[in-house]
Amino acid sequence: MPLEDGVRRLTLPLPTGPEHVHCYLVDGTLFDTGLGLGEAPFATAGIERIAITHFHPDHVGGAAAAAAATGAPVFQGGLDYAQCERVWGSEDWPERMAAWFARHGVPRDSVDELIAQGHAFAPFVRYALDPDLLYEGSTLAGWDVVELPGHADGHLGFLRDGVLIGGDHLLQTISPAVGLYPDSRPDPLGDYLASLERTIELAPRIVYPGHGEPIHDATARARELLEHHRVRLDETERVLNGRDQTAYEISLSVFGRKLSPTERRFAVAETLSHLERLVRERRAARSGADGTVTYTGPSVGRRHPS
Ligand SMILES: [Zn+2]
Repeated sequence: MPLEDGVRRLTLPLPTGPEHVHCYLVDGTLFDTGLGLGEAPFATAGIERIAITHFHPDHVGGAAAAAAATGAPVFQGGLDYAQCERVWGSEDWPERMAAWFARHGVPRDSVDELIAQGHAFAPFVRYALDPDLLYEGSTLAGWDVVELPGHADGHLGFLRDGVLIGGDHLLQTISPAVGLYPDSRPDPLGDYLASLERTIELAPRIVYPGHGEPIHDATARARELLEHHRVRLDETERVLNGRDQTAYEISLSVFGRKLSPTERRFAVAETLSHLERLVRERRAARSGADGTVTYTGPSVGRRHPS
């Protein structure tokens, strides 16, 4: 579908919510590749190079197929590709992920389901091997590469003439998930808040996101998301008390009890990113790094009177 700025949008289906993902084609550069399920119309689209915003399955999963269909080289962030290999290129990732969730208090049956799901899903993610690596300050066909960590540690944006190809960094109606995962950077929410501030400084005229409609007021949307996380940090802090609680228990208070196992996994990861930010702001304390990991309020004296 042709949009402004010479941007063509290819929308591909996803089996789960939000049920679609957008790829963009601009002057021979294809940004993102969908999940890689079924036939994508890449062969005839005039693609000279393929750029990946981040390694999540709905963006990188079709990269090998797109490269094979077009013969085009693939470009991906340096850190992002390292994480892509660690997650999709290793046999034991589901077990490592499960052990990590268990350490954060997730019950055994949910953890077992996570392992089964992980092994069922991984074969469908076909990323491109040995892409050309991009970093902050790289350029690609006239696009400036901007590192926007948070939703993924190595998330890239591509900026040219006020147009930002934004991946999932900024979405109009969804708050992009910001979770803490094994082997990820230690403070993804801190990274994300800084990336939102950076977006306000960059002030792109328009953002083309991975899901939903183009964003015409990126500054306002970035401010809304900053506020959303400020409120969520306060909510998370309020749940803390003098008792050691796991991230799983805290997620029950913050996100409620009625979630599917997949939703719970995102809720625990999101709770953890907020807890780790609170630890850095000295509003929470973590303990038990070797066994079950728990969090408490920092000290009774600092509690808000309420
Ligand atoms: Zn996505």
